[in-house]
Amino acid sequence: MDSIINYFSEMPSTHRSLVLVGGLTIFFLIENAAPLFTTKYNKAKHTGTNVFFTITTILVNFGMAFILVGTSQWVVANGIGIVQWLSAPIWLTLIIGLLLLDLIGAWFAHWTEHHVKWMWQFHVIHHTDQNVDTTTANRHHPGESVIRFVFTCIAVLIVGAPMWLIFLYQSLSVVLSQWNHSNLRMPLWLDNAMKLIVCTPNMHRVHHHYRQPYSDMNYGNIFSFWDRIFGTYIEVDNEKLVYGVDTYMKQEEAGKIGSLLKIPFSGYRDHIEYPTKESL
Ligand SMILES: [Zn+2]
Repeated sequence: MDSIINYFSEMPSTHRSLVLVGGLTIFFLIENAAPLFTTKYNKAKHTGTNVFFTITTILVNFGMAFILVGTSQWVVANGIGIVQWLSAPIWLTLIIGLLLLDLIGAWFAHWTEHHVKWMWQFHVIHHTDQNVDTTTANRHHPGESVIRFVFTCIAVLIVGAPMWLIFLYQSLSVVLSQWNHSNLRMPLWLDNAMKLIVCTPNMHRVHHHYRQPYSDMNYGNIFSFWDRIFGTYIEVDNEKLVYGVDTYMKQEEAGKIGSLLKIPFSGYRDHIEYPTKESL
């Protein structure tokens, strides 16, 4: 346990980048070997667009990392936050920390991005992808990367998270997100067993269906029970899904980096109200 804490306390940025690139490569290879959807599309262009947004996400996070480190050092030095108040042992710090960082820094941040219009205008870029795969995980507008960074800092303040916990959480979060966005066809029994605790590909995909209310379900990233607790959990037949977002289905808007970067500043588009109810 001590060696894990020591490692994550001083996790070098090269190792953090390696987790991201390594996860992407592994899931990219296995989703191509066992895909759920075999739609023909320009994979090189699609990957290029999503890698561009992954790089901007990395740049934003590395550029502001000193704020996160400062926040963590401050809460630990001043005994602020839940695990500091509890003087919790390491194992309890780990459990409470991972749960609350995931709840506040991922689930709640994501839910808020869907319900606050100006935040949705940034988050919608993630939803414009009509061929969801592992590279979609980090397809975030730079503005959204800043929004998510702020939520992570708030979570660190509430939790009282030391740096080792933050790096451990972020490593897990990156890999889980790459996995649950992947186009991997997993045996249903395995997916069903795993989704009792974590968000699996079969659980998250419906969040990328182009129509509401499905895109407002299954917000989770690491743990699956937040959606069950807050009433946003749904199970559907993944084979019937159509990826994208109804307001941006045209390729000239959804497939070009320049257009995607401009979306947040080009006015709010309300979801389309469909005359018929859809059942998946
Ligand atoms: Zn979303």
